[in-house]
Amino acid sequence: MNTFTYDALPGRVVFGPGVARGGLLDEIDTFGATRILLIAADSELDLARELCAPFAGRIAATFSGVRPHVPLEVAERARVAAAEADLVLCVGGGSTTGTAKAVALTTGLPIVAVPTTYAGSEVTPVWGLTEGSRKSTGTDPRVLPRTVVYDPELTLTLPADLSVASGLNAMAHCVEAFWAPRRNPVSNAVAEDGIRHLAAGLPAVAANAGDLDARTELLLGAYLAGSAFAVAGSGLHHKICHVLGGAFDLPHARTHAIVLPYVLAFNAPRAPDAAFRIASALGFADPVQGLRRLGEKLGVPPGLRELGLREDYADVVLEDILALAPADNPRPVTADSLRWLLSAAWAGTDPAKEIS
Ligand code: NAD
Repeated sequence: MNTFTYDALPGRVVFGPGVARGGLLDEIDTFGATRILLIAADSELDLARELCAPFAGRIAATFSGVRPHVPLEVAERARVAAAEADLVLCVGGGSTTGTAKAVALTTGLPIVAVPTTYAGSEVTPVWGLTEGSRKSTGTDPRVLPRTVVYDPELTLTLPADLSVASGLNAMAHCVEAFWAPRRNPVSNAVAEDGIRHLAAGLPAVAANAGDLDARTELLLGAYLAGSAFAVAGSGLHHKICHVLGGAFDLPHARTHAIVLPYVLAFNAPRAPDAAFRIASALGFADPVQGLRRLGEKLGVPPGLRELGLREDYADVVLEDILALAPADNPRPVTADSLRWLLSAAWAGTDPAKEIS
C-alpha cells in the first residue's frame, strides 16, 4: 500500500480502571457545561447517577427511554429532552450512545460518552435510526463524541455471554478492517493490536467475568476495534451478515462469529500480509485456525446450520450479497466462489480445507 488517504478522526480518550468515578467531573468542566442532558437506559440509570453525583446540580434533564437500534420516536423524545441542554452525557452500550448521536445529529450538541459494553460506536461518526422495520445509517462528524471515558470497572456487571457476543463483534471489526474500503497503514496497525487485546481478553472474561485485568484488555481491544472500523469502514463480511440477518432474522453476534473465519479463509490467500498480521495477533501460525480455536473456546457453533438455517439458504441470499460485495475485495466475489463460501459456512467444515 504505497498510496493512501487517511482522514484522522478527532476526539479525546480517557482510559483506565476508576477514571469514570474519579475523573468525569474534570471532563465535563472542560466544556464548561451547566445544563447537561444525561442519557442512560433504565438498567444503567443508577450507575449513571452515581457517576454524576459530583455535578448532580448541572444535570438539567435525564432521558432513559433507550431502545435497541434507536427508533425514530425515541430519538425525537430525546431531542425534546435536550431542548435546554448544552452537553449530552451518555452512559451505556451502543444503543445508548446511538441515542446520544441522534440528539447531536440535529442539535450539534457535544457528546461525552461513557461506554459500558464493547460496541465501539463511541469512536465512530456513524449514526443509525430505525423507522418501522427500516434502519438507516449515515456518517456525520457532529455525532462523533468529543470525549470518551473508558472505565473497565463499569463493564464488570456485563454478563459473560453479552461480553463474549459484544467482544466477538469487535473482533469482526478488526479482521474486516484489513480489506475494508478505506483501509490504510494506520487502521491496519490499530486493527492488528485490537485483535491481540481481544484475543487475550475474551477467553479470560468468559472464564471469570469479574477479572478486572481481563476486562481492561477487552475494553482496550474494543476501543481499538471501533477506531479501526471508524476509519476503514466495513467490507464483505459485514455485507454477508447484514443480508443474512435481514433475510432470516438470525442472532446478530453468533452469525458474525460463525461467518468470520470463512470470509478470512476466502480472502487470506489473496491478502497474505493481512493474513500474517491477523495470525500473529491471534498467536497462531494460521489465522483461520486461530479464529476457529478462539471461537471453540468461547462456545461459538461451527456452522450456520446450528442456527436453524436450511442448506439451500444460499439460493435466497446469493444475489443480494453479490450486489453488495465490495469491488475491491482481495478475492473477486463471483456467484461460484460466494456459493462455496456460504455452503462451507453452513456446514461448519474446516474453512481452510473447504476454501482455497
Ligand atoms: P446495547 O446498548 O443494546 O446493550 C445490550 C444490553 O446490555 C442492554 O440491555 C443494556 O442495558 C445492557 N448493558 C449495557 N452495559 C451494561 C453493563 N455494564 N452491565 C450490565 N448490563 C449492561 O447493545 P450493544 O451491543 O452495546 O450495542 C449494540 C448497538 O450499537 C446496535 O444497535 C448497533 O447497531 C450499534 N452500534 C453502532 C455503531 C456505530 O458506529 N454507529 C458501532 C457498533 C454498534
